[in-house]
Amino acid sequence: MVRFLLLTILLVVVARLFWRLMDAVMAGARGVPGPGGQRREPVKLVRDPVCGTYVPPRSSLSLTSGGSTHYFCSEACRQKFRR
Ligand SMILES: [Zn+2]
Repeated sequence: MVRFLLLTILLVVVARLFWRLMDAVMAGARGVPGPGGQRREPVKLVRDPVCGTYVPPRSSLSLTSGGSTHYFCSEACRQKFRR
């Protein structure tokens, strides 16, 4: 009887872990941030024309000149490019 009880508890724990995992996988597939996890998606990187570093456009400094936008890894690179 005790054995059966333990087995049941074990099954419940495993099932819970499994569903939590499935939830995380599904959330990841939809692009929704999972519990405690950051949103992960392939980020298209752009090249800093000054130092050649690849930076994500969303979190980098930009400068629009001559109809095209350039992205920089830092303010120093942007300053250099302006000159
Ligand atoms: Zn740079």
